[in-house]
Amino acid sequence: MLVLALGLVGLLVGPLLGIVVDRAVERERLVLSHRCQQCSADLGALSVVPVLHWFQKCSADPEHRNWRYPLVDVATAATFSLAAWRFGTGWMLLPYLGFFAVMVVLSVIDIETHLLVNILTYPAFAVGLFAVLTMSGPQGYEAGIWPALIGALVFGGAILLAFVVYPPGMGLGDAKLAPTLGLFLGWLTTSPLLAARLALYALIAGLLGAGLVGLGLRGLKVLGAKAEIPMGPGLVVGTILVVALSDQVIAL
Ligand SMILES: [Zn+2]
Repeated sequence: MLVLALGLVGLLVGPLLGIVVDRAVERERLVLSHRCQQCSADLGALSVVPVLHWFQKCSADPEHRNWRYPLVDVATAATFSLAAWRFGTGWMLLPYLGFFAVMVVLSVIDIETHLLVNILTYPAFAVGLFAVLTMSGPQGYEAGIWPALIGALVFGGAILLAFVVYPPGMGLGDAKLAPTLGLFLGWLTTSPLLAARLALYALIAGLLGAGLVGLGLRGLKVLGAKAEIPMGPGLVVGTILVVALSDQVIAL
């Protein structure tokens, strides 16, 4: 029931996240309407009505495709359902819903513009760290702080190393995103060793994920055949999968 309910919540929240996707890159004021992805024509207030807005046509040219908004909605619904499945009604549900929502926004922007914008990556880490340091839970929050920091260090360090060794493969934005991913991976456990393992699994899954996402986007013609594959969405997909399956992964 909760899985289904949060999937629906995801569909309701999606249009709001779409506004952020639309305006975060240029750091514009957030307004309650979407814009055409291709010509930036205002799509009107109806463009933020959940689900119905998928069928809205651009007023300037009905041929303009706006795949961004359905993608945000579906991804939000899917990740919210996963969070409900993983955490139930536990105290960790809320911080991970927030984490997933921000990661959806970052990923869609990265797919579209190849940018992981500082205006989202920096606050995501700051808010994540604040949550880790202040939110208590049944496991006792003090026990979770070190694993979270170790996760951030391992994931961030690995991506930074990859960026230094082979700059074309990894962007600086990926290095800014990685500590946040590691933070939320490490926070799942009270053991620093398991935190490091989760971060490494997510990194491996992320690199594979980036390859798969890249091929998928090429298949859908969102990316050209020779276009660079954005790493951010892959790393996010890998992280979300490891978060969702962390109980099973830890038991391995
Ligand atoms: Zn248009």
